[in-house]
Amino acid sequence: MKTVAVLGATGSIGASALDVIARHPDRFRVGALSAHRNVEALAALCRRFAPDLAVIADASLESALRDRLRDARVATRVASGAAALIEAASGPHCDTVIAAIVGAAGLESTLAAARAGKRLLLANKEAVVMAGPLLRAALDAGGGALLPIDSEHNAVFQCLPAEHSGLDAAGVRRILLTASGGPFRGRTRAELGAVTPAMACAHPNWRMGRKISVDSATLMNKGLEVIEAHFLFGAPAERIDVVVHPQSIVHSMVEYEDGSVLAQLGNPDMRTALAHALAWPERVAAGVAPLDLLRIARLDFEAPDRATFACLDLAYGALAAAGNAPIVLNASNEEAVAAFLDARLPFLAIPHVIEKTLENTPSAGVDSLAGVIDSDLTARRVAQRMIASAKD
Ligand code: NDP
Repeated sequence: MKTVAVLGATGSIGASALDVIARHPDRFRVGALSAHRNVEALAALCRRFAPDLAVIADASLESALRDRLRDARVATRVASGAAALIEAASGPHCDTVIAAIVGAAGLESTLAAARAGKRLLLANKEAVVMAGPLLRAALDAGGGALLPIDSEHNAVFQCLPAEHSGLDAAGVRRILLTASGGPFRGRTRAELGAVTPAMACAHPNWRMGRKISVDSATLMNKGLEVIEAHFLFGAPAERIDVVVHPQSIVHSMVEYEDGSVLAQLGNPDMRTALAHALAWPERVAAGVAPLDLLRIARLDFEAPDRATFACLDLAYGALAAAGNAPIVLNASNEEAVAAFLDARLPFLAIPHVIEKTLENTPSAGVDSLAGVIDSDLTARRVAQRMIASAKD
């Protein structure tokens, strides 16, 4: 029996994770759940899964959560704030942590889970982008395993040998990350001038949270994933390629020296990756419909349009620049996406804000959590200035 903490339980990944967990009460138990502000949804999940600990990150809502659970017949302890999130990630309530908080807000709990030696099921890609080397050090110190949840990285993990000491030793030539191309694949720059948040969030293949949906529409999601693949698999940037594959059936591929290309296929449903990582090295049912290749009939592949979707190359550039550049990239992207979702910034200004923030934030080496947080805050201040001037 594994005891699981689902951090970001009220989100899209949280819902998929809890769906898989609920299918296997003989294998998995929910030890802790967290949300940011969605008290109603968190209270409902507490009634259903009876975790030992429920954390509402916004401390002003702790009493509201307590009130909603007063008459519930569950012995769930309610806590709030950053320290409680770290407790949920690293304390005795779990042996497995699903890191599914969106954005930099998930960084400290992700690191805490790694340091505590939990089995870390990682969806929160922004944490890896911001602090890849620190996360690796925390995993080494804690001695736990990391299982990627991002469908592309989960696919790469499945296509690599179970045990290997680096890509060269395993005979790997390249990692090929697939990208759906998002809702605006094939559009010209001129056609993207007036797109709205609702249009950007209408992904053709996946139902996801709003931030990652916009990232998919700009191709920044793929850029973040290139950096994530670099840190998770020890691959240099020149050995990570991006292939647009509109059907989202091939979730990614690994090319070997002998010319073999191994791919992982499946319907676009995050429950496959979650079930894989939850049960690994075993396999369990995920509730996902079987893949009907005859109905799909064809799989297409094309090159990304790097000129129209400039975020992809901004991410490659930040990876090459190293130091604080991936942190600045991530922070400015979070600020620009939030501004776009608030109708404070046009879609096409997102890459512009990121590029200007990278140019205007002094580069620095970063080797501590304090350094990461400092770089993140500095970049957000610069990005806010760029957003304000982009509107003028
Ligand atoms: P959602 O927006 O659907 O959910 C985000 C979750 O994080 C919610 O539980 C939310 O709580 C919580 N949260 C938001 N802000 C904070 C905060 N400041 N402090 C603490 N908790 C917070 O996101 P997704 O589920 O789509 O994505 C989660 C992560 O997984 C992201 O990093 C994303 O890139 C990654 N991912 C997602 C995929 C998907 O299919 N959705 C696929 C691959 C990766 P509340 O509900 O209270 O706001």
